[in-house]
Amino acid sequence: MKQHEMEHLHRLSQLLHGIEVGLVVINRDYQVEMWNGFMENHSGLSAREVRQQSLFELFPDLPRQWLISKLEAAFLLNSRSFTVWEQRPFVFPFAYSRPVTGGNQMMCQNMTIQPLQDTRGEVSHAALILYDVSVQAADRQQLSTANEKLEQLSQLDPLTGLANRRQWERALEQEYQRCRRYQPPSCLVVVDVDHFKSVNDQYGHGAGDQVLNELGKLLGHSLRKTDLVARYGGEEFVILLTETRVEQGKILAERLREAVAEMTLAVPQKLKITVSLGLCAYSHELDSAQAWFDRADKALYQAKQNGRNRLELA
Ligand code: GH3
Ligand code: MG
Ligand code: MG
Repeated sequence: MKQHEMEHLHRLSQLLHGIEVGLVVINRDYQVEMWNGFMENHSGLSAREVRQQSLFELFPDLPRQWLISKLEAAFLLNSRSFTVWEQRPFVFPFAYSRPVTGGNQMMCQNMTIQPLQDTRGEVSHAALILYDVSVQAADRQQLSTANEKLEQLSQLDPLTGLANRRQWERALEQEYQRCRRYQPPSCLVVVDVDHFKSVNDQYGHGAGDQVLNELGKLLGHSLRKTDLVARYGGEEFVILLTETRVEQGKILAERLREAVAEMTLAVPQKLKITVSLGLCAYSHELDSAQAWFDRADKALYQAKQNGRNRLELA
């Protein structure tokens, strides 16, 4: 080999050794013939230690069958393949210490397998090229955590912090299905503020909002953790009293009605409000969640008809 060719090879080998990507070359017996600096640093094994050793003896934790099938495709079919961390978070079990949060975890890796031909065109070796994608993976993780939070927020009514109608509809459907299957006692209550238009008219929409906020708090605090309170829309609220018989539900709803009537709101002039309520206990004749709701709503309408500030049962 000529001097300048030697120099060229020498530079090339330094480049491959120092590059921030893992490079491994193996022969047909999966024995290591090249192991660059990246691999040395992350495995703690020097190139000398791994030379001519089987990859699978060096790393018994490698996904053997899966990796062999990829390598054989390279050797037999001369085909290149890729794997991404979303499918398999890592191939080589390297630790990764997060620079910011400091926690330890496994390095996430993308990998390419590249067949290497000899001068006669035969595939004699394969290269495993390993990319550290831990930062992208962590970013993705953060993004999905943020999306989960966003999803949670989108289930809440911004004015009262209670569940919104979307979450309510999901929960009602679930409770309906649960009742159908297991027949536990369960009550649905619809609550509507009496003459709320006149609150807005007298004190303004802002004060009206404040009233709804306080009412939401009162409803939220009055119930058990297993119950669900939601703002159905406008000045209408809905409650699911789980594991509650109609007699018990009636007592709870009456208590709520009284608590609202006794509540003095912080808005100007010590405003008082009242609510009307409709209650419908689950029964097996209800053929949908919507039917359950409609019955409770009808009872609410009765309560309005019968003079407001009262509870009616379906
Ligand atoms: P009743 O239910 O006793 O029959 O009388 P009402 O005056 O409460 O009747 P209705 O349901 O027709 O009116 C509800 C009013 O609630 C209409 C609207 O001005 C007001 N409202 C609905 N949503 C909001 C809201 O988010 N903020 C405020 N401030 N007012 C709202
Ligand atoms: Mg009303
Ligand atoms: Mg209304």
